[in-house]
Amino acid sequence: METVKRHPCPVCGYPGLSEPPRTRSGGGSYEICPSCGFQFGVSDDDAGETYSVWRERWRAAGMKWSSRGLRPPKDWDPATHVSRVESEALGAAPKRPKRNRGA
Ligand SMILES: [Zn+2]
Repeated sequence: METVKRHPCPVCGYPGLSEPPRTRSGGGSYEICPSCGFQFGVSDDDAGETYSVWRERWRAAGMKWSSRGLRPPKDWDPATHVSRVESEALGAAPKRPKRNRGA
């Protein structure tokens, strides 16, 4: 059995992207999130959208499933995922107290 690695969408939290949204060198995957419709490397790089702006717009529009070809997961609950990705985004750059070395 083959294990396919999946990646979470940094915009909406959809956990099933087939590629990391951005490569280590910073380029986009050109994958379109089937949930929120964000295309990495295009919506951001070409259209100048940010994850948070896109997320707010998508939420305001009712968090609709974007893809017509793919079905949402069985127990898909966008509100849960989006709140999770938001709290992770907020905690992405935690301020850690510096340790005093040998002071
Ligand atoms: Zn998404």
